[in-house]
This record gives sequence, C-alpha cells and structure tokens, in this order.
Amino acid sequence: MNEELKPCPFCGETMTMKQSINSFNCGITRWINCENCFAHGPMCPLDNGDDERDAWNLRPIEDKQKAEIYQLRQERTMLLLQRDEMLKRIALLD
Ligand SMILES: [Zn+2]
Repeated sequence: MNEELKPCPFCGETMTMKQSINSFNCGITRWINCENCFAHGPMCPLDNGDDERDAWNLRPIEDKQKAEIYQLRQERTMLLLQRDEMLKRIALLD
C-alpha cells in the first residue's frame, strides 16, 4: 500500500517520514513524524514494508465516523426526496 499520509490529528500539519539507525540492533528504523508538534507514529524496522505508514493512517474511529456521516447523508437525501414528493401530493389536493 502506498497511500498518502494522513495529516497530524493534533495540529493538522503534513507528516514526514523519518529514518535513523537503531542503536540497539544497528538496523534502520522508520517512523512518521510531525515537524510542528513532534507527534509521531510507531517506529518500525525498514524491512517491514509500509507498516509505519499503515499504522499512522489507521484511524478506526475517524473512518467509522466518516462511514456514519456518509450513511446519514444518504438517508437525508432520501428523506428530502420523500418530503418533496409528499408536498407535490398535498399541492394536488388543494
Ligand atoms: Zn502535529
């Protein structure tokens, strides 16, 4: 997966990918970092694909809320269509 990084949930800034040598095992570690408020995601070994990106972009509560908002907008559209149809019928009765 190579999707764009989601912005920082604390300050809204664009996130950057960082990497450094891990002093414990001399491997390379990568993480997602906010240059503005220094929030960061989990540190992952370099050979773990896009784990740090996937971990950073994982927002289950936000994704669930977006799905609920989409569903509610769909329901609102249907209700407005039903309302318009009822108003047309009422106008015909007058
Ligand atoms: Zn931030």
